[in-house]
Amino acid sequence: MDSNFRFCDADYKSYTNTDELPAGQEALLQKNETERLKSLVKEYGEKLGHEPSACVVTFGCQMNARDSEKLTGVLEAAGFKLTEDEEADFVIYNTCTVRDNANTRVYGRLGHLHSLKDKAPLKKIALCGCMMQEPSVIDTILKKYRFVDMIFGTHNIYKFPELLCRMFESDETVVDVWKDTKEIVEDFPSVRKYPFKSGVNIMFGCDNFCTYCIVPYVRGRERSRRSSEILAEIERLASDGVSEVMLLGQNVNSYGKGLEGEISFPELLKKASEVDGIERVRFMTSHPKDLSDELIETIASSQKISRHLHLPVQSGSDEVLKAMNRHYTHEDYLKLVEKIKKAIPDIAITTDLIVGFPTETKEDVSRTIDLVNEVHFDNAFTFIYSPRTGTPAASMPRAMTDEEISACFNRLLGAVQENARSAAAALTGSTGVALVEELDEKDPSLVTGRLSNNYLVHFPGDESLIGKYINVKLTENKGFYFIGERI
Ligand code: SF4
Repeated sequence: MDSNFRFCDADYKSYTNTDELPAGQEALLQKNETERLKSLVKEYGEKLGHEPSACVVTFGCQMNARDSEKLTGVLEAAGFKLTEDEEADFVIYNTCTVRDNANTRVYGRLGHLHSLKDKAPLKKIALCGCMMQEPSVIDTILKKYRFVDMIFGTHNIYKFPELLCRMFESDETVVDVWKDTKEIVEDFPSVRKYPFKSGVNIMFGCDNFCTYCIVPYVRGRERSRRSSEILAEIERLASDGVSEVMLLGQNVNSYGKGLEGEISFPELLKKASEVDGIERVRFMTSHPKDLSDELIETIASSQKISRHLHLPVQSGSDEVLKAMNRHYTHEDYLKLVEKIKKAIPDIAITTDLIVGFPTETKEDVSRTIDLVNEVHFDNAFTFIYSPRTGTPAASMPRAMTDEEISACFNRLLGAVQENARSAAAALTGSTGVALVEELDEKDPSLVTGRLSNNYLVHFPGDESLIGKYINVKLTENKGFYFIGERI
């Protein structure tokens, strides 16, 4: 047990009953805890003199967004009124730690929560997610942010009902952060942001240990869910009105590893697309080293699988890719993209790029710019490298100064934007099917829809179209999105 439990210091309460139960028993335990929680929330409401409200704030990636839907589901089942206002009686930050500035943002916003709690002392504040897996963060919070009522990490999120009960029953900060888990607990209630689309976790954690990345340390080793459980969840979602699912994992291409007799990721993707009521399936994220021909054929053979592939390359320099532990070269990536585009000509490819990796030189960045100009990415998330304590890259000597990195970043961003603009411009005049997601934020006479290739299109329509698939023509290109019309 001690390998997955962080014992707490004497000045706050520690809980040691965190042995992992078999998944079925754990689900039952958490259902019972939810019942207990309902009466605790009722008592809390009586003290407050009104129905208690709760606000879940999400930082970071799609995996966190999906976790937040689960947190929200538990809070709603427990009797909280949900709100997006941080003046709520209970506020939980689901944090990210991929970059250092993500941590800084959380600390900054905690200051604001503190002033709200000063005005409303019964307010409860909780923190969870990847940032909480870092021991130095816990120490900082317990020293400088003592008003926080509960802290837990990524591995025991399925214990949220039990943790909430502890928080209401304790006057001290509840801290329960595990180093790892093998557990996957099914049957977690969740509240979806959109009624017609949903993320579905197919696996958790990552075994790749890219040298710059903290994910394997904060999300743990790779664990896949059984395909029968995943497909049953998709069937339930479809019968509840969901028509688009996004299969989520840090590296979906290694789905099933370690599970005896399990199907491959392409087979899972195909089966998901065949579920009655499912019109579109997306997935995220693919590691280039594991992307198989079978996956390319599966996407090519089904119009229900989205024409969008997010394929993080990170760098175009072979030396940097090696230092990053990525297991492919510039040439390998180009060949892979060529194969994908040949089999699926209408696919949009997006990527992630890092500038300022410690060993990176200006020449390395030029190789990345070459790659951007060779692939013509539809878009790219471009980041300046941020050292994460405990990762191998954090102790590598730096080859460039901050000024040089900033100049390289601007050069790369220019190339990314130029390619993205011309990729979008080439689609002007084409037609596609848009899933309408919402009313346009700026002009309510328009709706915003997402095409299979992930581009957004705004076109005339009203609320009645939300959740529907509409044929559109892309009449005008606005850089990275389109104005369109119904056809
Ligand atoms: S594949 Fe690499 S970058 Fe992606 S989560 Fe795993 S270690 Fe991090």
